[in-house]
Amino acid sequence: MKIIRTEGKFPMTIEEIMEKLKNSLPAKRYVHSLNVMETACALAKRYNQDLEKAALAGLLHDCARRYQSHELPGLCQKYGIAVDNISCLHPLLLHGPVGSFVAREEYQVTDEEVLSAIYCHTTGKENMSRLEKIVFIADFIEPGRDFDEVEGVRDIAFEDLDKALLKALDCVIFYVIKKGHLIHQDSIKARNYLLMKST
Ligand code: FE
Ligand code: FE
Repeated sequence: MKIIRTEGKFPMTIEEIMEKLKNSLPAKRYVHSLNVMETACALAKRYNQDLEKAALAGLLHDCARRYQSHELPGLCQKYGIAVDNISCLHPLLLHGPVGSFVAREEYQVTDEEVLSAIYCHTTGKENMSRLEKIVFIADFIEPGRDFDEVEGVRDIAFEDLDKALLKALDCVIFYVIKKGHLIHQDSIKARNYLLMKST
């Protein structure tokens, strides 16, 4: 795999982060993280975004998955993250927000764009940045994903970032409905924003 050099912009090199992350996540989750990093880099290249930021955000997006979902509300309290009513009932959603604080505290990431992409990767949000979109989509289409709807998003991810994001959000929302769960308001806001922008 091609290793991306950090050129001193971040205190830890990508290699050091990879090593540390590998020791903290289950093997399957670590492989997923590497896949998201590579896919995010490919998308960043396509859309002229900072490759290093895409690599870091992709690699670390699930760093808080080392915690069990019941541990996440307590970590939100520790980090001062406000827990909304939906996340209260579905605490696994909190691995995005908690992950951004873990990335800051344990992986010395201070770049707000990277941290924000990690923060909102579970639900999306209104008016997402390019990097946030890239990480959200990379998480959805990385090569290890094989559910039916992935192909449709994969096909357009390198053609039209917003269309791919809309499709991915639709899939996430359908999935949540099928499971009988509550839909997070940020996913709805993300989707409505994209639709309103395109009309
Ligand atoms: Fe995640
Ligand atoms: Fe993920």
